[in-house]
Amino acid sequence: MVIIFFVMGLIFGSFYNVVAYRLSNNMSLVKPKRSICPKCKKELGILELIPIFSYIFLKGKCKKCHEKISLFYPFIEFLTAFTFALSYHLCGFSLDLLIMLIMFSYFSIVIYSDFKYMIIPDEVTFIVIILTVILILIKALYWNVIVAFITIISTYVFAKIISIILKKDAMGGGDIKLMFFVGLLLNYNAILAFFISSFLAFPAAFYVTVKNKNSKIPFGPFLLLATILIYIFKLDLITILSWL
Ligand SMILES: [Zn+2]
Repeated sequence: MVIIFFVMGLIFGSFYNVVAYRLSNNMSLVKPKRSICPKCKKELGILELIPIFSYIFLKGKCKKCHEKISLFYPFIEFLTAFTFALSYHLCGFSLDLLIMLIMFSYFSIVIYSDFKYMIIPDEVTFIVIILTVILILIKALYWNVIVAFITIISTYVFAKIISIILKKDAMGGGDIKLMFFVGLLLNYNAILAFFISSFLAFPAAFYVTVKNKNSKIPFGPFLLLATILIYIFKLDLITILSWL
């Protein structure tokens, strides 16, 4: 079963590549039907659509124009496959399995779009939130929905205050909307996710600032990574505070 989830993850991962690439570039999801080479626009053949293996066959280059294919593609495919298998391994067939699959799917798409284009497509966040709200309501975690609204509003206010102090945008709109998802899953532990992700992002931010003064780093992937860790390991803010 774990292998079936791995293969399913490969297929979904290759779909998420298309979703992240097209939505980040304001392209239609349905046209063209087949994936194309971003440089020469040649449609890919059936063999070139096979996840990971095609990358190895093609030695990382487009068959026609020999443009290098980004390592992001096989990486996202592998990441989705690995996390889908992990989700099944951790949850078996349960409601939590669906939540984990949504969470990791979102993670794969955001890693691609945010690292490459500094964008979290609204369409993706919207679908992820709708699906998660349904699952959270089935689990009767009604409070989480209310907390999610409080989370997105307080994040928005916090980001506004910081941007007034620093005189530049501290958090992107995509990150603020993503916080709704975090509140939905983690309830008050959304605050913990915020702290852990800042902690995780700090070395990257430091490195980028030293290298190039005006560049930014995407926050979304770190926020989701923190959310995933808290969700899987059931970390709790109150328990952690009681250790201090
Ligand atoms: Zn090409």
